[in-house]
Amino acid sequence: YHNSNFVFSPQTLQKLNSTFGLDSFRLCQEGVINAAMDDRDIVCVMPTGGGKSLTYQLPAVMGSGLTVVISPLLALIWDQVRALKEIGVECVMMTGATSTSEQNAIYERMKNGSSRGEKEIRLCYVTPEKVSKSKRLISTLEKVNENGRLHEAHCCSQLGHDFRPDYKKLSMLKTLFPRVPIQAVTATLSSKTLPDLLKILRLGPITDGNAAKSTGTVFFSAPLFRPNLQYKVLPKASSSKMAIAAMGQWIQQTHPGQSGIIYCLSKKDAETVAEELREWSNGEIKTGVYHAGIEDYDKERIHVKWREGRINVICATIAFGLGIDKGDVRYMSKSLEGYYQETGRAGRDGEASDCVLFYRGQDAARLSSLTFQDTDGSSKLREMLKFAQDLETCRKVAFARYFSASAHLSASAWDAPDTLSSSSGTTSKCGICDNCTREPDSIVTKDVSVEAWRILKVAQYVQSEHGRVTLANLSDLVRGLGGGTFSVVGGGEGRKGKRKANGEKEKVDLDSVGGKILLGKDDTETLMIHLLLLGYLEDSYSATAYNVNVYIMPSDQAVRLTR
Ligand code: ADP
Ligand code: ZN
Repeated sequence: YHNSNFVFSPQTLQKLNSTFGLDSFRLCQEGVINAAMDDRDIVCVMPTGGGKSLTYQLPAVMGSGLTVVISPLLALIWDQVRALKEIGVECVMMTGATSTSEQNAIYERMKNGSSRGEKEIRLCYVTPEKVSKSKRLISTLEKVNENGRLHEAHCCSQLGHDFRPDYKKLSMLKTLFPRVPIQAVTATLSSKTLPDLLKILRLGPITDGNAAKSTGTVFFSAPLFRPNLQYKVLPKASSSKMAIAAMGQWIQQTHPGQSGIIYCLSKKDAETVAEELREWSNGEIKTGVYHAGIEDYDKERIHVKWREGRINVICATIAFGLGIDKGDVRYMSKSLEGYYQETGRAGRDGEASDCVLFYRGQDAARLSSLTFQDTDGSSKLREMLKFAQDLETCRKVAFARYFSASAHLSASAWDAPDTLSSSSGTTSKCGICDNCTREPDSIVTKDVSVEAWRILKVAQYVQSEHGRVTLANLSDLVRGLGGGTFSVVGGGEGRKGKRKANGEKEKVDLDSVGGKILLGKDDTETLMIHLLLLGYLEDSYSATAYNVNVYIMPSDQAVRLTR
């Protein structure tokens, strides 16, 4: 199926054109579709926006039969059902929002197939929850299967490592329907997470697709890098008003009237940004809000409005899922995985799209409290910050490095379809990201080693004598505000073993570290946050032997630290 073994191509190409109105296959679509036509079990890895849905939709409309598509993402389901109906493909969906009477009608139609002169349902989209909870769905599928008409496709969003509980129950499907071919499609999968996926879906081991038909699973993958996506980090102003204005200007100058998504950190942020952007532009930028707190019914409405262009910009949390066919704008992510996934929603039509990260050092303070709870959250945050601060490394190279370390994805997987080889190989520069196109002398560096040293000295004093201070407090302190005093947080031991009360004021001798710091509030906080996130403010660290450089960008800065 990988090379010349495309026996079904004459038929499938014809259908590609007549039903989907497309002329040629993309990436590994042709091979996957051939294998699917041959009723093989398949695992297919393609980047988001690569064209995975066609690989099960096209086989589903060839010949006869029902394909059950299992996807945890409602947005993907709505989007695909709507698009399929538009091109005249019989399809239905069953989610938590489907009424009992609608369900009954669907079950009837599924059981009857085309026998009563009705059009046969070709695709039925369901959520994993529905499969694991609805006995009636299963018994209906058993009926359909008796007539030999059943196929299964799984859209796995959660990259293998943290499948939702309902996904685990999907293993029952292969037991119930051992002969029904399963096609699993996903956006990223590594040598480490592939075994999980095979286990959960009870698929056989990976075999050579060109070998004789066996019980094995045929594996396909496509390069992870999408050359139409242009990654860049833009400075975000410190006041929210200015940040909104900058974002609004950027949208109106570079993407007037076009569609975009702004991923925000919280539900509240999504709402605020939507409202402020709308106000700032006097209603010219039509915004919508999408997050987990929005009712399913409203989500669908917003989604439809967005598709029809009645909303330009969706301000969303990560709950706004896959299955989206538009340009893109962005804001801030908590992790590089998140950023990579979010940006996958851009430029799905293959046209050039911007994937912008509006970044401000101080956001990290909020991010850190958001993610320090989960065990590796802080290291993920550090990676994200390094990415945002890095003004030299190609963004594609940075992704490749990150994913080869964290997910055992080969660095070469970004260029070539060999996702399963272990973490070696290299990737080439993309040539279009901000760092690839930046004029080297546009970066001005300022040495803030002395300031960093002073901050660390004061932080050390405060930590060893009195426990913790807040970052804002420490920032005032090192800048000599409030008479060099700070409040003890949560109480702590004094030098003479005397316990300090929570909130008690303490004075620090700034002269012992060469006086106060001559940096503004924002710069000081940014520097402190970087010191914190990079591990320099931890109790055990002794403030010696390091070297700190700050890149000064227009209205923002990035810090580079070397020990
Ligand atoms: P994903 O891999 O994220 O599921 P989709 O299946 O949604 O991606 O496809 C992304 C976009 O690419 C859609 O707009 C789809 O119509 C388009 N597309 C898919 N295959 C082809 C093709 N062979 N030729 C042209 N456009 C295609
Ligand atoms: Zn680049």
